[in-house]
Amino acid sequence: MVEIYVLRIGHRPGRDKRVTTHVGLVARAFGANRLILGDIVDEGVARSLRKISQLWGGLFDVIMGVNSVEYAKKWKQRGLVVHLTMYGLHVDDVIDEIRDSGKDLLIVVGAEKVPRIFYELADYNVAVGHQPHSEVAALAVFLDRYYKGAELHREFSGAKLTVIPTPRGKKVLRIGDRKNSDRHAKNEGACRDNNDYCRENDG
Ligand code: SAM
Repeated sequence: MVEIYVLRIGHRPGRDKRVTTHVGLVARAFGANRLILGDIVDEGVARSLRKISQLWGGLFDVIMGVNSVEYAKKWKQRGLVVHLTMYGLHVDDVIDEIRDSGKDLLIVVGAEKVPRIFYELADYNVAVGHQPHSEVAALAVFLDRYYKGAELHREFSGAKLTVIPTPRGKKVLRIGDRKNSDRHAKNEGACRDNNDYCRENDG
């Protein structure tokens, strides 16, 4: 099974906390296995994402503080480095080749200016269109193209909460021990930036 990791570079604590958390949320929800926060530690981001996984399931993992350049260099012994940038090759022209390689992927997304070395290290510089937008959108579209939409139908193992689709309102099924789910949902500090995802059911 192919493993996909997302390397977030250039994170500025405080300023980028919300966007980086959203990079992690998209990575998890769209089928990646791990978020790596390069060159810096931000416990708030890691805590939020771990709480989401505890409640909503899956084996998503977060690691922080690795040297981004060294990590990407080492990754090349294992799989492909895919850097998302508006200056790269159009996603539609390379996505089949990337998928068909069957190799593990390290997807690199930036915050502000991305150092030149990542353009050189990358096996693929991939543009999700050639207009400037956002690392969150670029990652979502790339993963969706990669999985051809199948990622949105995945079940997340070990979930304590699951949504019952409904045309109006919110229905959430609590799975297993109610006490346990309550404890996670109410855990102090849980998902401070993502309250809406953390509530079990607010009607
Ligand atoms: N100006 C910065 C630069 O030149 O490197 C980019 C800043 S952008 C707000 C943050 C990140 O979003 C980029 O590093 C890239 O990963 C991603 N991004 C934005 N637009 C993109 C696009 N059209 N295709 C792929 N990735 C994109």
